[in-house]
Amino acid sequence: MRWTQTLIPTMKETPEGAEIPSHVLMLRAGLISQVMAGAYTYLPLGLRSLRKAEQIVREEMDRAGAVELLMPALTPISLWEQTGRVEAFGDVLMQLSVRRQNRQVQMALGPTHEEVITDLVSRHISSYRQMPVILYQIQTKFRNEQRPRFGVLRTSEFLMKDAYSFNASVESLDASYDKMYAAYHKIFDRCGIEYLAVEAESGPIGGDASHEFMIPSENGEDCVAYCPACGYAANLERADVGRREYHMPDVPLQDLQDVDTPHAGTIAGVCEQLSSEPRQMIKTMIYMADEKPLVVLLRGDREANEGKIRRAVGAERIEMAEPGVILEVTGAPVGFAGPVGLAADIPIWADRDLLEVRNAISGANKADTHTKGVNLDRDCKIDAGRYADLRNVVAGDPCPRCSQKLELRGAIEVGHVFKLGTKYSQSLSARFLDDKEQLHPIIMGCYGIGINRIVAGLIENNHDKFGIIWPVALAPYEVLLLPMKVDDEAAMQLTDKLHDELTAAGVDTMIDDRNARAGVKFKDADLIGIPLRIVLGPRGLKEGKLEIKWRWDSQAQMIDIEGAAPAIAEMIGKERNDAARFRARPRGFNAGTSPAANNL
Ligand code: ATP
Ligand code: MG
Repeated sequence: MRWTQTLIPTMKETPEGAEIPSHVLMLRAGLISQVMAGAYTYLPLGLRSLRKAEQIVREEMDRAGAVELLMPALTPISLWEQTGRVEAFGDVLMQLSVRRQNRQVQMALGPTHEEVITDLVSRHISSYRQMPVILYQIQTKFRNEQRPRFGVLRTSEFLMKDAYSFNASVESLDASYDKMYAAYHKIFDRCGIEYLAVEAESGPIGGDASHEFMIPSENGEDCVAYCPACGYAANLERADVGRREYHMPDVPLQDLQDVDTPHAGTIAGVCEQLSSEPRQMIKTMIYMADEKPLVVLLRGDREANEGKIRRAVGAERIEMAEPGVILEVTGAPVGFAGPVGLAADIPIWADRDLLEVRNAISGANKADTHTKGVNLDRDCKIDAGRYADLRNVVAGDPCPRCSQKLELRGAIEVGHVFKLGTKYSQSLSARFLDDKEQLHPIIMGCYGIGINRIVAGLIENNHDKFGIIWPVALAPYEVLLLPMKVDDEAAMQLTDKLHDELTAAGVDTMIDDRNARAGVKFKDADLIGIPLRIVLGPRGLKEGKLEIKWRWDSQAQMIDIEGAAPAIAEMIGKERNDAARFRARPRGFNAGTSPAANNL
């Protein structure tokens, strides 16, 4: 390929509205171009990288025994109605209504395909003999994200690999899950990505039934709790707070005392009026667990974790109570609930941190009023078993495995594996007969990878101030031939010859044949980040030498023109497979996070 033949609109300036490095660099290097918020064109270079990521995913899915198919993005609304996901997705589900002859037909653009594939399988699989089977596709998904942002990291239209396993037993599901989990490691390793496999929230079927693959990044929208000592890693939603000893401070107990706190319905507002601190407050939250109200108490500086609350109380569904319910059970408007003097006798659960809070401040269950001197062990009957881990982890909390200190870090979710169970097979009647002719719902798993996020996530952690640093496996081109004088016929002939030989040897090669200043060409070469740059300059050519330089090295080296093509093809082939040079490179300026020990 010749630079002048393709379209690579590089930019010097940081484009407006691009906040994070991967977004800036994908625009500046001419990989993508925005069409509207949340929708991008992949330009020729960007598309090549996207296709390479897609191909790696496809190869590893095939190798793991998954079978590719392709479902339509257009889906009938009835399928989503049957599983209750019209409501669950809400505005995210892109619906459209079209006229066909004389009737309106309601459709949705698939945000994911559990419904379509389960419906398909319900028609064609009816016996345990036809399973296990893992089906996958690589296809465009549509989600009306309320905040599309960060370039292709969060868009309303994106490329996903979604796989689904169909199993006749839980053991078989576990085996399919393990295969996908292992394939994900291979995929992200081959892509040269640094990632963590973390335990993730898994919904009602519980256990360690879900993992997310996370790219550590300050700019990620997710948060991971991580233990440097033992390698435990979990999404903030899922991370447990390890056990420790609690010590109630030995201070005199104050009497209960109601104080006026006009309009102070927030922790910050109360702290300001009463000159207190959030950690001295009791946050009182009213939840509905399977339609029944319950009270959850937390220290004022802690965040409730709904998954933990749901599991602790053993409910299937949990949600914040409506203001009407809050008024009914507390006797006060929102913001003034407290554990003492509730209007209704409902179960009270408390986070364990409250085991060491004396003389706290809480709502008084009266409008514009708080109570001081609250001591739960004296003023409120809470069963010992209802002190539990109900909050989000904070940095420094003990690790649930080894008790060392947990760290928090931002992350980009790039993939997700999930034991679904029978949720979809039940609502869509996908059943099978076992060897005793008994009918059961099929047991399912689902496994997603965001292909666009592989590319953007890679760039987010692999760049310097000059541009992108690609591993060979994902680079749009592997070798860039840079002739210094494009009007030197002999030099151009040699360039073409090298290009053809490298291409014939399977190396993706591009020639920068622009008649531009060397400085411009070098700058663009660094910006688009092709791993191996080969300069054909007049002096070297006279001596029968080429100058080669890896994008991440500061030094170039001279090699003989004689035999150059096979030698380069061999180096590139090796690097494509093991990314050894890419991984071992010195990390300066924007060193991403180190590949963390990941012993999950
Ligand atoms: P998020 O929490 O980031 O919204 P999700 O958990 O809803 O993502 P899944 O339903 O698990 O996403 O989809 C599988 C994969 O698809 C994700 O791991 C992610 O890599 C990718 N993905 C999801 N939403 C988007 C999006 N709006 N743009 C680009 N990729 C996405
Ligand atoms: Mg997910």
